[in-house]
Amino acid sequence: MSLGQSSPSRRALLAAAALLPLAGGEAEASAAAPKSAQDYYDRAARLAGDDPVLRALVKALAPGLAMPPVKPLKPLRIFDDVAVVGTTFVQATALLTSRGVILIDAMGSPDDAKDIIIPGLRSVGVDPSHIKYVVAAHGHNDHFGGARFLADRYGARVMMSRADWDLIAADRPAHAPKRDLEISDGQRLTLGDTTIVFHHTPGHTPGTVSPVFPVRWKGRRHTAMLWGGTNPPATITAKRTYLSSVRSFTSTMRRAGVDVELNNHGGADHGLARIEELRAGSPSGRNPFVIGRSRTQRFMKIMETMLRGRIVQDREAGTGAPSAGGAASPGRSPRACC
Ligand SMILES: [Zn+2]
Repeated sequence: MSLGQSSPSRRALLAAAALLPLAGGEAEASAAAPKSAQDYYDRAARLAGDDPVLRALVKALAPGLAMPPVKPLKPLRIFDDVAVVGTTFVQATALLTSRGVILIDAMGSPDDAKDIIIPGLRSVGVDPSHIKYVVAAHGHNDHFGGARFLADRYGARVMMSRADWDLIAADRPAHAPKRDLEISDGQRLTLGDTTIVFHHTPGHTPGTVSPVFPVRWKGRRHTAMLWGGTNPPATITAKRTYLSSVRSFTSTMRRAGVDVELNNHGGADHGLARIEELRAGSPSGRNPFVIGRSRTQRFMKIMETMLRGRIVQDREAGTGAPSAGGAASPGRSPRACC
């Protein structure tokens, strides 16, 4: 079938139609549908408005992200039952249950575990020997590097999705943990009074996992999500997978009533600034990580919009070929991270 001469609206329709398999049928084919990558980026910026959390996300998902210099991060309990330790580059998040600690991510090395995670937890009143599980949100070094050390020292079990266990088995990176527990999609893990639910959100890596879990702030219950891998992968195929994960996880979040947004790279979501805001305290006692249900949904909508832009940009540039790395040929880049 000949496509004939494209009028602007017809081009918009065609562009939208090309995205429909990604969109799961969402009605993007309106006259206002974005056509270029920049249209998507502009739309995401409009969605973000002057909200610093959302603006940070737009910036983090834009092409050419430059990571800031790594500095120490003073540990903090960001909820009654959640502590964050790490550096300005990457953080580990400790869920403090009545029967021990579930640690989401373990930074980049045994030294990070020994010199940052363990003393960091102690400094906020958490006994690191109570770590029962170390969950690697994905199979990149900056998330599992300290896991083996914590497993050896405290008998903690290490959890990762099968796809990312396979990823590190293939890559054999430094400091890889011994293969231990596999995380299936939708799996629940209960420790004491806390149940965490793991959702597969592939894209950043083939086996990225994003958990949803209850948190308390000044005794009040909230529901948190932690997006497991933020930096978009290199290939169009992997970006499509990422986009699909964003869409399904958005629905999961809506059903779960998620009103708290967390990330393992606090530079990507204004998290570092929010930690300092929380540390400084506010007269209202407000927690800046409790952003509400509609803002968490908007956060995901921005992620979706930026991913669509990145895919269009790859098409425009003729890049993002399936052989170019990313989740389609996972973990081959020594710089893969975040
Ligand atoms: Zn990563």
